[in-house]
Amino acid sequence: MLKKSFLKRKRPMNRIGETTLEIDLSALEHNFDHFKSRLDPQTKFLAVVKAFAYGSDMMSIAKKLEALNVDYFAVAYVKEGVLLRDAGIETPILVLHPQVTNFSELIDRNLEPSLYSRRILREFLNVTKEKTRHRYPVHLKFNTGLNRLGFWENDVDHVSKALEGRDELEIVSVFSHLAASEDENERAFSLQQIDTFKKISTALTQKLGHRPVRHILNTSGIVNYPEAQFEMVRSGIGLYGYGNHHVIDETLKPVATLKTVISQMHKIEPEESVGYNRAFKSDGYRVTATLPIGHADGIGRRYGQGKTHVFVKGEKALIIGNVCMDMIMIDVTDIDCEEGDEVIIFGGKHSAEEFAASANTISYEILTAISQRVKRLIIP
Ligand SMILES: *Cc1c(COP(=O)(O)O)cnc(C)c1O
Repeated sequence: MLKKSFLKRKRPMNRIGETTLEIDLSALEHNFDHFKSRLDPQTKFLAVVKAFAYGSDMMSIAKKLEALNVDYFAVAYVKEGVLLRDAGIETPILVLHPQVTNFSELIDRNLEPSLYSRRILREFLNVTKEKTRHRYPVHLKFNTGLNRLGFWENDVDHVSKALEGRDELEIVSVFSHLAASEDENERAFSLQQIDTFKKISTALTQKLGHRPVRHILNTSGIVNYPEAQFEMVRSGIGLYGYGNHHVIDETLKPVATLKTVISQMHKIEPEESVGYNRAFKSDGYRVTATLPIGHADGIGRRYGQGKTHVFVKGEKALIIGNVCMDMIMIDVTDIDCEEGDEVIIFGGKHSAEEFAASANTISYEILTAISQRVKRLIIP
């Protein structure tokens, strides 16, 4: 039995046959264990699985994390939470950015909203009252400097007054979000945010008469400000194997590996061009390979024009010319390869962070860009 699964895991060398995003659930477990080991044992762990679990596969990721006893999930929108409930996920789900129009469905599906403004609080109170709900679990988001979503520090009074003498809501947690947790140059600013957050939660605790769970750290926050873990942390990118820092990255395992195959090879003569707009002009004899992956799969046009490489037989091959909707062309002149051979776009030791950096973006963007057209292969 053991031997069989060992063979299975080793097999995906070469013949995957088509563009495939491999999702390694043992890598997910490794990363989860790693971040847990950085925290106090009693600190709760919220796994951020928005945007299809950062472009990987929301269902298998959430099921695996639920089996590992994660405390909470977070998604951005109600629709994402509904998908998780449809898949049978029972762990509490925080919806970070719900819209008023979805409040009724949110309640029907047992999802927990982040309430982030006076308007949102008022509207949510109305809906819970209409539905005669009592002590419905909600989370209060305060802005401490990111200036994106959240009540202001001086809204504490307003919130507690709005809740006075009513029992529709139960404030399960109070939270905030750091603006630059990965940036050591912004340490003073992050510490200021943490300090403001402490003041807010203390004031709120006094007014409410009970202390909600407090959380402010994302992945880089866990790494750089462990003293501010409070009762819970929220991690997304770290679970998927990227830590916004090369030292952390070495201890993590990328969950997603994007692979494809060589569809066709071409011999190009001097002065010939490759691809749309003749964007690549050859200065000599070259060999190119055409791959069945393009901007409709998430490899944007900015990865073209010789800025980014992929890996064929472990060697670097530049993406040349313009990225097409369904294809890219790479230069394999110096690589011993043939049609049908496997190509690694990123994953494993070929970091998605590095791939993204070649086009001036970040791992978060390339991971979440991989479109639903790409086949997912779950490796247990
Ligand atoms: C997306 C998100 C996170 C996760 O951040 P990572 O850097 O991926 O760990 C945490 N909190 C909030 C509010 C988010 O929107």
